[in-house]
Amino acid sequence: MMHFRLLRYLLVALVMSTTAVASAQDLLAEQAPMDKQMARIDSVVLSRLIKAEVYEYPADDLYPEWSNDYAHKYVGVTIPDSLLIDLTGFCMPTENTKVNDIFGYRPRRRRMHYGLDIKVERGDTIRAAFDGKVRYCSYQRRGYGHYVVIRHPNGLETLYAHLTSRLVEENEVVKAGDPIGLGGNTGRSTGPHLHFETRLLGKALNPALFFDFPNQDVTGDTYLYTKPKKKVYDPSDPDTYYKVRNGDSLSRIASRTGVSVKQLCKLNGITTQSTLRIGQVLRLY
Ligand SMILES: [Zn+2]
Repeated sequence: MMHFRLLRYLLVALVMSTTAVASAQDLLAEQAPMDKQMARIDSVVLSRLIKAEVYEYPADDLYPEWSNDYAHKYVGVTIPDSLLIDLTGFCMPTENTKVNDIFGYRPRRRRMHYGLDIKVERGDTIRAAFDGKVRYCSYQRRGYGHYVVIRHPNGLETLYAHLTSRLVEENEVVKAGDPIGLGGNTGRSTGPHLHFETRLLGKALNPALFFDFPNQDVTGDTYLYTKPKKKVYDPSDPDTYYKVRNGDSLSRIASRTGVSVKQLCKLNGITTQSTLRIGQVLRLY
């Protein structure tokens, strides 16, 4: 998409410059200066256009669409096998360093926590983590409270939740460090904190992979994201199968291996009524 738009701009620029030269001078005689002019358009105009495109359509080649209709959508999107994410030019979203809660599964609440919780005071300035464009702003009474989602040219989207108020609007271009909201306690929150998410094509990634809040720094100039490999059944790899032992049942195997009874049945062509033999090999993948 980006290339079509660039091409269109470039063509318009070229036609305009060609017309100007041709109307003033003989076209053949002016061939050399015209080439020079074209070269100048190539470098100056093109670099300016690319810069404008980067902010107007951040990570355009990665995302299938620009939408103000949802916070994040993971389903149906293909995540590249690997992506080098540029972390230079960052700004920490808050000066606060205390991490109240980390990313991951919370057994006590039986749900995933898709971000990092950073302690803030009500009214603290929350800043854009990178240059980018605000894609989504909303209020969720039982969830995020006031929140903002920004898409960045490096491919990440960042989400800032539980804000007292939002200071930006959808489709607004922001620079790293621009104030985007005030810290708070709105939505499902038990005390003022910033719930901060980093997502790639909708998939939540641990913000600690990129941001080190205690040290107010990024983890490096770049972060190489690699898609976790899906495990496949391999008879030579004991991690991919289970050998039935004395006293085993499907539910016991499920709790031992973390593979559900339903999945075990499906993978091995058995039912919950099937009799298991000692030594029988069950595929886990
Ligand atoms: Zn949180």
